[in-house]
Amino acid sequence: MCELLHEVGFDQPETIYDTYPHQLSGGQRQRIVIAQAVACRPALLIADEPTSKLDDPLRSEISALFLKLRQQYGTTILFISHDPAVLATFADRIALMYAGNIVEVGNSAEVCMRPLHPYTQALLGLARFSLATGAIVKGRFPKIQGAPPDPANLPVGCRFEPRCSDRMQVCALRYPAEFVPEPARSVNCFKYGE
Ligand code: SF4
Repeated sequence: MCELLHEVGFDQPETIYDTYPHQLSGGQRQRIVIAQAVACRPALLIADEPTSKLDDPLRSEISALFLKLRQQYGTTILFISHDPAVLATFADRIALMYAGNIVEVGNSAEVCMRPLHPYTQALLGLARFSLATGAIVKGRFPKIQGAPPDPANLPVGCRFEPRCSDRMQVCALRYPAEFVPEPARSVNCFKYGE
């Protein structure tokens, strides 16, 4: 375990090994959880919001650690996040979800530079601009008007329809099928297909 602790960035792993959780910082605890997660050399690692409560420097540090471990062990990482900046810099492929449905899929650069779904466009608008100028991608959700639907009372049509500035009559009547504009890219929106 000490070897793993060293790999996730602890200079004195023996000391950390004998330390109680309450004596560690949030970032240190996060790194220990990551060490535990990779201890069995998993083929797939599901990381659910691993950077959500961290400040900017720590978020970058933890993201870099995941990247290093991915290269080192060849682990596939399913990285669940609400942070466009982390996704844009970390992921190979992005699947955007809205109200329980995947609404757009594509490789990371494609989705960030050329989002197709109106929800993705609203969500990544700021990050996309930063990518285009070559600046470091930053920012969290821009404000999107309205609220997500009640999960117990979902609309029959597109679930983003009440909040969508591009909505058409058909959008409230049925759910849009998956449209594949090019290989490895998909979007569920009537703007692109039936
Ligand atoms: S299907 Fe209609 S409401 Fe839904 S995102 Fe596309 S344009 Fe907007």
